[in-house]
Amino acid sequence: MKGSKKEAKKDTKIILSAPRGMHDILPSERPWWDKIETKAKELAEFYGFSRIETPVLESAHLFIRGTGENTDVVKKEMYTLRTKGGDFLALRPEGTPAVMRAYIEHGFVSAPQPVKLYYFYPVFRHDRPQAGRYRQFYQFGLETIGEEQPIADVEIIYLSWLFLNEVGLSNAHFEINSLGCRRCRSNLRQTVKKYYERRRNKLCPDCRRRLETNPLRILDCKNENCIKLKEDLPPLIDKVCDDCRSHFEQVLEYLEELGVPYNLNSTLVRGLDYYTRTVFEIWLGDNESMALGGGGRYDEMLQELGGPKKPAVGVALGIERIIEELKEEGHKPPTPSRPRVYLVQLGEMAKKKAFKIMEDFRKHNIKLGSSLGRDNLRAQLKNADRLGVDFSLILGQEEVLNETIILRDMRSGLQETIPLGKIVEEIKKRLH
Ligand code: AMP
Repeated sequence: MKGSKKEAKKDTKIILSAPRGMHDILPSERPWWDKIETKAKELAEFYGFSRIETPVLESAHLFIRGTGENTDVVKKEMYTLRTKGGDFLALRPEGTPAVMRAYIEHGFVSAPQPVKLYYFYPVFRHDRPQAGRYRQFYQFGLETIGEEQPIADVEIIYLSWLFLNEVGLSNAHFEINSLGCRRCRSNLRQTVKKYYERRRNKLCPDCRRRLETNPLRILDCKNENCIKLKEDLPPLIDKVCDDCRSHFEQVLEYLEELGVPYNLNSTLVRGLDYYTRTVFEIWLGDNESMALGGGGRYDEMLQELGGPKKPAVGVALGIERIIEELKEEGHKPPTPSRPRVYLVQLGEMAKKKAFKIMEDFRKHNIKLGSSLGRDNLRAQLKNADRLGVDFSLILGQEEVLNETIILRDMRSGLQETIPLGKIVEEIKKRLH
């Protein structure tokens, strides 16, 4: 008996907390989210990106093949499940493979290229939760598919920079590198392998394994010793072919022209397997573990997924981290618009009429406060006061019968009776 009570208490505790690493977005946080989502939408759509929404669940194989079997995101952090029907599904751990799947499935390949898509939605990673690291978090992503020119890379980087600036973060910069094309890749791999083979004993156990399976992943290891070991690695950009080098140089030239701050980081490889040519991350200072976003080119991914050969480039920005940074820097949340008029209703007839009046105001885009559950004049005026409105409208039985309403100036306390049909116009005049 005692045991089961204890169990029940534990269950209640679990039921009454959001899952670890996941959080509610409460109404008090909403102004941040609205501001950021509005900015993302405005910027993306001005530059010709259309919004796409993909299911939260996808075939797990999409990410195993698209993101890469040996990446941490897939190997360690992906939430997977088997349905009763036997399907093997995953909560999307990132946006890009899902967007590529939709591009292939819906025949975007026969639309005029490039196809430019954006998303703003949650992704899921079963990582160890800590500050700035969650298990469900939102990403704003931009993807340009079907354009090989360096200007497409630049557009993605430039828009990420504009977005951060316009939400209020002006001190971010881009760490940038080129991983070359698939043909350069074996060269890069060889260089890294050779370099670390001589330092094998100093590597962490995970990286010793990576040396055999995927040596480039060593450059992504967060172990302090492994980070230090990177210092003498020859610059990878020296190992890419002439075409890739020239592509990268053009990207950098444009960035300079546009004044986008960047730092050449010759050991930046990103945590996902699919990148080719340009890769970048958005950092604040040298805080590598708290990047605000990251992206690059993935010219091979579509083909790898079974689609046509099409170059593509994109970015994903972490919204929670952006909001945390804005708070840290002392930015104030945007204030939600409050009603400046309040409707007080007295008696059954007035209550019935209230919705019609509220609709008249809504159609004219004037916010109207009310508390329809209250009956008493004093309680309703107190609410109006608390909201700090300029005017209250008082509707009693007599006013309903006469088709009038009382307009009360909350500052002076003066009241006058106005024909109901004229009240919206009257309020409009007085709110200026
Ligand atoms: P990634 O593609 O993994 O580099 O993720 C892109 C961006 O998403 C990162 O730069 C972060 O801003 C954000 N991000 C990645 N993982 C997490 C996480 N576990 N919690 C919160 N934000 C994250």
